[in-house]
Amino acid sequence: MIQLYIPLNFLGVIYREIKQSLTDLDKMFGLLEREREVADAPGAPALQLAGATVRFEAVRFGYEAARPILQELSFEIPAGKKVAVVGPSGAGKSTLARLLYRFYDVDGGRISIDGQDIRTVSQASLRRAIGIVPQDTVLFNDTVAYNIAYGRPGATREEIEAAARAAHIHDFIAASPKGYETLVGERGLKLSGGEKQRVAIARTLLKDPPLLIFDEATSALDSRNERAIQAELEAVGRNKTVLVIAHRLSTVVDAHEILVMEAGRVVERGRHAELLARQGRYAQMWQLQQSGEGG
Ligand code: ATP
Repeated sequence: MIQLYIPLNFLGVIYREIKQSLTDLDKMFGLLEREREVADAPGAPALQLAGATVRFEAVRFGYEAARPILQELSFEIPAGKKVAVVGPSGAGKSTLARLLYRFYDVDGGRISIDGQDIRTVSQASLRRAIGIVPQDTVLFNDTVAYNIAYGRPGATREEIEAAARAAHIHDFIAASPKGYETLVGERGLKLSGGEKQRVAIARTLLKDPPLLIFDEATSALDSRNERAIQAELEAVGRNKTVLVIAHRLSTVVDAHEILVMEAGRVVERGRHAELLARQGRYAQMWQLQQSGEGG
């Protein structure tokens, strides 16, 4: 019995890990049922991490040959820093995240993490190094505990609870009739957008990867909730290398660098204060959001 249990359990872990990363990404990037186009090089070694410095070097990419999306894009996210990407819909922001996760290979240039071209390392090791907090978190029709433990299969109840506390979702869970055993999803407890995001944050805290991709929600939560979640994301991202696809400019104010994209090109880049002083696209976006939010 025990002998049978161990391999099955092990398979379960692998299955869950693969399924989770695919589910989050499919949802995040709308890649449902797309064929994945990349494969490991034979005998590809694992990514060796040393702080997780990300570098895009003269990256070119298009989904179709006739229509390039990114052209000669270069930037660096030094280990432990945050780079924010802003710009209108269709500018190519999510494409950067898809390339970093290696859903596609670049057509030209390269993307590296700690000096290793991501095409040369195993995809499993690459994806273990990256945590994603998507706009819209997928929850499974299972218990709250299971949904959080997805971040790290095999996590203990104490670890799950600690992550939930840090993501400020513990009190909510504890108040449900069955606590962490409460079922969520279609047939169980329905969670609001903000609560789902907190579950995603707890998952990510458990996974504890050195590199994070945040895809900020475009759909507005109420502003108090939004500020609280932003503060939590801030805490999750502390001392990690972060790529944030930002819709609220308030989250990018402290970024190491802000890339303003339009039609696959970086049209402005720099820190918040520099970009405001330039009085260009970023300053315009900033003014628009300030007046839109009504203070
Ligand atoms: P948004 O803020 O709306 O999410 P974005 O800046 O993230 O936009 P991307 O999703 O990166 O934009 O898309 C960049 C361009 O690539 C768009 O013109 C889009 O239509 C195109 N595109 C995105 N995904 C695909 C795909 N799978 N096949 C072909 N073209 C695509």
